[in-house]
Amino acid sequence: MHQVIIVGGGPTGFLTALGLAQAGVAVLLLEAGEQIVDSPRAAVYHWSLLDGLERLGIREEAEATGIVKDDYTWLIKKTGEHIRYRLDVLDDRTPFNYNINMGQDVLANIARTRLEKLSNAEIRFGTRVNSLAQDADGVSVQLADGEELRAQYVVGADGAGSTVRDCLGLTFDGFTWPERFIATNVYHDFAGAGYGLSTMVVDDKWGAVIVIIAQDGLWRCTYMEDASLPEESYLERLPAAYEHLLPGSGGYELSQASPYRMHQRCASTFRKGRVVLAGDSAHVTNPTGGFGLTTGLFDCYALWPTLAAIVLERADPGLLDIWAEERRDIFLERTSPMACQYKHFLFHEYGGNRAELDEAIAGMRRMQDDPDYCRKRLMFTKGLETTSPAER
Ligand SMILES: Cc1cc2nc3c(=O)[nH]c(=O)nc-3n(C[C@H](O)[C@H](O)[C@H](O)COP(=O)(O)OP(=O)(O)OC[C@H]3O[C@@H](n4cnc5c(N)ncnc54)[C@H](O)[C@@H]3O)c2cc1C
Repeated sequence: MHQVIIVGGGPTGFLTALGLAQAGVAVLLLEAGEQIVDSPRAAVYHWSLLDGLERLGIREEAEATGIVKDDYTWLIKKTGEHIRYRLDVLDDRTPFNYNINMGQDVLANIARTRLEKLSNAEIRFGTRVNSLAQDADGVSVQLADGEELRAQYVVGADGAGSTVRDCLGLTFDGFTWPERFIATNVYHDFAGAGYGLSTMVVDDKWGAVIVIIAQDGLWRCTYMEDASLPEESYLERLPAAYEHLLPGSGGYELSQASPYRMHQRCASTFRKGRVVLAGDSAHVTNPTGGFGLTTGLFDCYALWPTLAAIVLERADPGLLDIWAEERRDIFLERTSPMACQYKHFLFHEYGGNRAELDEAIAGMRRMQDDPDYCRKRLMFTKGLETTSPAER
């Protein structure tokens, strides 16, 4: 019998596995793909996440591997106004007053490399979970090749289309947006055109999130298109979109691109018996503001010490209910509403509501000019964190 099986080798699965294994839990991670998926998705690790990376022992490596940056620019496209602020206003709150930018596959690979050195951790790629069933003593996990495994506990970290969630019979309530996001990785001289290393372009047609994501000068440019346009031809439309999105006169080199349907959805519960859901298997949001994986990593930071205490120290399994309720509340009450608000602002200019738009822009100007106000607003992402119920 395995102590913990983790289904899914995305960033949530790998970092949860690392926390558990370093705490002394025997962990088996099952990933359907032959390697860590490297499609362009999460790229920004907010300052508030760095304490958790530090605790996992991977902050320094993440910093050395990715881009460390502390500036934000909001560009109001129609007026050309640049509004800028920095994370240095957080000086008295944290030693880590900056973000780390890099692809989520890069972060997952850092955890994977650490796990491979631990004798109590096993990783199996090319291993798809088909179904699971639980009884009083454990969970039976059925693989696609027919093999059956047993575990004391299972973590479903298998993403938005979670098999684990389906096997638990849970609903994934919410809605799907009528737009499609196009995430592109591109080499282009954004900085030379005056763009900050994180630039949010506010526009109802050509809104975009533009951030540097690698030390070799690779940038992420995410924009939106109508989901009724044929998905298979999104690349044909990309050059025309870039005419509006890429500043300056220099050329570009496209590295990767991927279309995504966007949802706001949340599982009906994050725990059922010996099985828990974390990351996108539990909740999904549109990516504006970069709160999706942020919330998933905070799930992980509070989960691994809880599960480790239950497995290793016979702590009350009921602690998982507290963890599950708190994480679900955070998503429904904070993550999802703020991501929707940012999307309405950045990509829709509040649907032409001039008063709302003016108020939002005024708020950004105040962040630029008033350090106390800026600090207060920046604390939002720290508010997505909950501690482990086993450590109170
Ligand atoms: C364009 C875009 C930009 C984004 N930017 C940000 C950002 O800047 N910041 C942020 O916080 N979030 C961002 N997000 C959200 C972020 O990408 C997700 O929250 C993140 O991928 C969730 O990680 P995860 O490990 O929970 O799930 P996933 O990354 O989806 O990983 C799940 C893994 O499970 C595996 N799997 C699935 N089914 C099975 C099975 N049956 N058996 C075994 N393995 C299985 C899959 O192969 C996959 O590797 C963005 C999303 C998009 C689309």
